[in-house]
Amino acid sequence: MWKDFNEQQRVTRILQGSLEHDRIAHAYLFAGPRGAGKKAVALQLAKSLLCRELASDSCEACADCKRINGGNHPDVHLIEPDGASIKIEQVRNLQKEFSYRAVEGNRKIYIVDHADTMTVQAANSLLKFLEEPASGVTAILLTERVHAVLPTILSRCQLLTFQPLPPDKLAQRLIEEGYASPVARIASQLTAGLEEARKLCQSESFAQLRNQVVQLSEDILNRGSYALLTIQDKITGQDNSRDELMLVLDIYLIWLRDILLWQSDRRDLIVHDDQQDVLAKQALRVGRNTLLQHMELVLETRRRLEQNASPQLSLERMVLELQEG
Ligand SMILES: [Zn+2]
Repeated sequence: MWKDFNEQQRVTRILQGSLEHDRIAHAYLFAGPRGAGKKAVALQLAKSLLCRELASDSCEACADCKRINGGNHPDVHLIEPDGASIKIEQVRNLQKEFSYRAVEGNRKIYIVDHADTMTVQAANSLLKFLEEPASGVTAILLTERVHAVLPTILSRCQLLTFQPLPPDKLAQRLIEEGYASPVARIASQLTAGLEEARKLCQSESFAQLRNQVVQLSEDILNRGSYALLTIQDKITGQDNSRDELMLVLDIYLIWLRDILLWQSDRRDLIVHDDQQDVLAKQALRVGRNTLLQHMELVLETRRRLEQNASPQLSLERMVLELQEG
């Protein structure tokens, strides 16, 4: 229901107004950062257009709302990158499917996630589709990189820009929902999206990874062989995915920044606020320049992982370099 989307009020107000006045555009481009709720709002718009019970909102109870929530509504088609890009076959399949279904005269919606990853052929094929809008068909394109979308596509769509949620607002909201403060605060540093932050807070491995980062930071400062064992045993040796290892690096970065904040007496901004004793001790032991160097090493490791370097080797190398620094 629209009332659940008060984080993106500007966008949802425009869409609700268009629904109420029956002036829905043929094509929308939702642009905004990861986790800002673009896909959720796209699905909400689809439900509002197809719901049997309500004219411009979703009831969440009728067969149409339920099928959209279940991801299996025949008149709602979602295209996502196949590998690194959206290919022309995917757009052709969509067109084929929609021309069959046009016979039924239903309203149809298609959502193209990461629309900026369309190959030139796919984009040109979609462009034809956008240029001759069939009645009752609504296109919703989503992108985190609006500047990478072809101008010809852009010119056919109504552009709606999603704003990232500021971390303190997001954390406050998560804490109100009952999540523990450190976890909520860390999650809100990692994503701007409520839904994604909630998922992080709910996942068991998140809290575990956080504890292991605190352990690792202690081991690194003690300069023994424990740090390497910790990373091999508890982190890279487990079935952690590449994303989870990225998360380890992100949490570690926030940890290092917390030490800096402690040193500069900005304790109100500290994210790991349940670990003040450990932070205080580490703040006494590491100088500011070393901390900055460590942050740079973590960032460099993160870049390596993004470029598909071996996570295990990259993280082990990082630990050794951190101990030298
Ligand atoms: Zn409904």
